[in-house]
Parts: sequence; C-alpha cells; structure tokens
Amino acid sequence: MLANIKFWEEKAQEGKYAIPHFNVWNAEMLMGVIDAGEEAKAPIIISFGTGFVGNTSFEDFSHMMVSMAEKASIPVITHWDHGRSLEIIQNAYNHGMNSVMRDASAFDFEENIRLTKEAVDYFHPLGIPVEAELGHVGNETVYEEALAHYQYTNPEQAAEFVERTKCDSLAVAIGNQHGVYTSAPKLNFEVIKKVREAVSIPLVLHGASGISDDDIRQAIDLGIAKINIHTELCLAAMEAIQKNTDQPFLHVEREVRTAVKKRALEKIYLFKADGKADGR
Ligand SMILES: [Zn+2]
Repeated sequence: MLANIKFWEEKAQEGKYAIPHFNVWNAEMLMGVIDAGEEAKAPIIISFGTGFVGNTSFEDFSHMMVSMAEKASIPVITHWDHGRSLEIIQNAYNHGMNSVMRDASAFDFEENIRLTKEAVDYFHPLGIPVEAELGHVGNETVYEEALAHYQYTNPEQAAEFVERTKCDSLAVAIGNQHGVYTSAPKLNFEVIKKVREAVSIPLVLHGASGISDDDIRQAIDLGIAKINIHTELCLAAMEAIQKNTDQPFLHVEREVRTAVKKRALEKIYLFKADGKADGR
C-alpha cells in the first residue's frame, strides 16, 4: 500500500532501525526491491531521480511505480531523490510521488534555506513531506580527494536550518559519498551525534553503498532513520548479467531481478527494517 514517509521515518527513529530507500529506474529493479520488501515484511521507499531520465521515461515509469506501490502488501513510499529545482519536484508530485527531496546543498547556507523553505511552503499544504540536505554529499570521484575539501554538516547550522525551513528530514554529510568508494569510507560519527542532539527530525544517510555493515549499524544506533542504496543494486545486477552472458535475454532479466531482490534483502536485514511492515 502507498505509505507516508513521515510516519515511517518517525517509527524507525523511535525503534532504532532505518527505512531502506532504493533507487529504481527499470522494471527489474522495481520488482526486485518490492519482492524483497514483501518477503521481509519491511516498509520500503522506491525512488527516482534526474540522473535516470536518460535511461527511463519517468512520466511513464511513474505509473508502474505507483501501481506496484498500491498493490504491495507492505507500506511503500514513492519518492523523488535530489530534486534540483522546484519544477522538477512539482513534476514528480504530479506523477504520483508522495515524498520529495529538495536538494539545494550545492548553494550557500542562506540560499539553501531559501530554496528548501520555498519547497516546504509549496508541499506542506499538499500533505507532502520534504527532505533537505545540509553539508554536501558529492558525486562519484576519487574519495580521498573529496575528503580533502569535504563539507560536513555543521550541527549548529543544522538546528537553525531545520527551525527556519521546517523540513521533515535531513540528509547529512558525514564522510559519505555517492557512487563507488575508491577507498574505505571514513564516517565521522561525532558529526551524526552532534546533529542528532541539535535537531529532532529523522536523519538520512545517502551514498550508503559500500559502507561497512558495522558502520551502518553504528549510524543507525546514533539516529539515522533512512538509508539510500543505489550503487549496490547496480553492482548486483551487473554480476548477474556477467554470470549469464551465454543465456537468452529473457533469462538474464529474471536473474537480474533475483539478484536485486537478494541485495535489497541483505540491506533490509542490516537496517533492521524486516518485520516492521505492521507498524512497529
Ligand atoms: Zn543521494
């Protein structure tokens, strides 16, 4: 069934688990993560974003996302990831996404506040929660170089940011990065602790593919309530393709769906979201 992200993130925050957020942009990925959620009885977030429009027509694929979310026996949230403009997330809402991220983290503090607040003022009357980002989680690059000029979330700024924007959840920059890590990720748990103390809304970890299981557990213990996974679903899909290059395409596609399901299941268990679909 279609579900409300605010309800589930708050449940997760109370219950010390994290809601898995899976980026999906083709039928195999979408069906694979729904299969995983159903098997583990976990609430899940299915999410699309601008980076995938070159692969899949969102305005058409969104119908499949919404239809599968409605038919699922588990709570499913339809989300737009990293909305770089108000128009982009308005389009997402108009095509059935019931949760949006407005990412203005590339701008300075005051501009990030202004743009985030603009989105919150637009979407709250429609009943749509808004995720924002403070500090900046960058894109795939040499990790050590990224760390040299990394913009961690500033805890004092986080308190002011949440107070002034009224955003519903906050993506934090704690040494995490999108894509494949070129060396072992170094999470700064002190930053999570301080941000957790400074604000009461759910905190979100992006770029979680490749972060060790122990670090993920610690991040959840410290108050992360939503975790984004994309790269690891892609890697699982690629492994399945490479193992089956001599098979017919019909068969390969089924193997991809199964591989995505398997990887999503591992994340659901790691995040302790299994068995939570009944509202615990
Ligand atoms: Zn992200």
